Amino acid sequence: NKKTDPRRLEAELAEVIEQVRGTDGGEPSDYLADVDGRDPDSFAVAVCTTDGVQADEGDESRAFALQSVSKAVTYAVALQERGLEPVLQRVGVEPSGAAFNELTLHADGRPYNPLINAGAIMTHALIPGDDEQARMRLLLQRYSDLAAAELSVSQDVLDAELARAHRNLGLAHMLQAADMLPDDAPEVVRGYLAQCSVEVTVSQLATMAATIAAGGVNPVSGERVLEEWVVQQTMSVMFSCGMYDASGQWMAEVGIPAKSGVSGALMGAVPGALGIASWSPRLDGQGNSVRGIGVFEELSARWDLHVLRHR
Ligand code: GLN
Repeated sequence: NKKTDPRRLEAELAEVIEQVRGTDGGEPSDYLADVDGRDPDSFAVAVCTTDGVQADEGDESRAFALQSVSKAVTYAVALQERGLEPVLQRVGVEPSGAAFNELTLHADGRPYNPLINAGAIMTHALIPGDDEQARMRLLLQRYSDLAAAELSVSQDVLDAELARAHRNLGLAHMLQAADMLPDDAPEVVRGYLAQCSVEVTVSQLATMAATIAAGGVNPVSGERVLEEWVVQQTMSVMFSCGMYDASGQWMAEVGIPAKSGVSGALMGAVPGALGIASWSPRLDGQGNSVRGIGVFEELSARWDLHVLRHR
């Protein structure tokens, strides 16, 4: 197993960025563009291999909010802290086939899966802690362990989220009405929106993905952050549900368990090989980063990463 040369990786990422940069369709999320005034054409890509070789290119020094990428990470933390059965009792693992903020629950009262808003709000409430602050402290600790960096919440992004939280509040009240949510609905939504507002660089996000790809051991710090069964379960839902209602097409075409966010963030984990992250704010109709999709399509083809390829 020879170590990958980081300079070669960087050269390949630079090529991919040039190749995909022309793909400039889609629109950035309007409420976020207002907040941070970021260039909608920002573009960054990073990889981190499961033996800790890192490379990043483009606007790689810029930080962006995790947004819905946090849903996958919080699911992993909830599994690790609570165990599989207690989590499955509250949130399912079925793709919903509907938009990320769909106002429906499965017939059994559970949200379909942890990677749409209803399921993510439910999952946030499963994080141990007596109040909002305690849950966020634990999440920030685990997110930071996964990234091998000290992460924090962007107050500007959080303020913008809080100012437009009505739909998420609606989802939380619906969960509370179904006796699924034990705590105060607005408090859980505030916590969920704080987790969405955690900022990372593309390289930190690639390290989070690499930790998942490496069975839960952070390849940069050497620390075990998650158990193997936790990352297997997390990657399973990322694979079936991570790209919202485009998840089936993504599974067939790209073949990498992944999670996207409204900031234009995208994280993918190739088990036993590497983590990939991209950031480009223009989104398609399903809420996935247009160039991010381009990056993953290109890297999957170049490096033969489809996890279901016959080997
Ligand atoms: N904070 C956003 C929300 O809950 C996250 C949505 C997303 O990234 N798709 O509405």
